[in-house]
Amino acid sequence: MKKNNDQSNLIPESYHLMISEEQIQKKLRELGEQITRDFKDKCPILIGILNGSFIFLADLIRYIDTDVEVDFIRISSYGDGRESSGHIKILKPLSADINGRSVLVVEDIVDSGLSVKFLRKMLEAFNPAELKFVTLLNKPSKKQVNVQIDYIGFDIEDKYVVGYGLDDGQLKRNLRSIYYIE
Ligand code: 5GP
Repeated sequence: MKKNNDQSNLIPESYHLMISEEQIQKKLRELGEQITRDFKDKCPILIGILNGSFIFLADLIRYIDTDVEVDFIRISSYGDGRESSGHIKILKPLSADINGRSVLVVEDIVDSGLSVKFLRKMLEAFNPAELKFVTLLNKPSKKQVNVQIDYIGFDIEDKYVVGYGLDDGQLKRNLRSIYYIE
């Protein structure tokens, strides 16, 4: 018997469960505790990288127990394809003034590292007091450039993943767990 709202009608046979919603929420609680400790009373600006990080950021801030501001940047690196093109465009620039502020960039997934490298250079030009990065997922085997990530949710294998904000051709962002496609 099908459970209510188990999302099974959204999950094709080629999708395989990688990280369940319970595992995600447990990890977010741990990340939230670390971030609270590190940014206590600094009122950091969390910058979500659209589109993929919107669910992660929304959930993560609710595990953070100090005041935070939120802003978003939208960049394009992949278009609708699955491999990094290396050509990054800013589609929505930053709105907040980050000069002298503590900044935490919130990424859904770090793959080649090219987006993080680009973002670090771009944001450093605004002279933040500190600039840190958190990513829910990291693919260590795919790095093309060396990047420092301060908080990592899960190191994963080199597989294309979807759900929990991550898309499959702009769809499936609403899945509550993370799946790999095979
Ligand atoms: P990077 O610049 O590190 O190669 O790529 C980062 C961006 O590529 C992520 O923010 C995400 O939008 C996209 N990306 C990389 N790997 C995956 C993946 O496995 N699934 C999805 N849906 N997007 C990915």
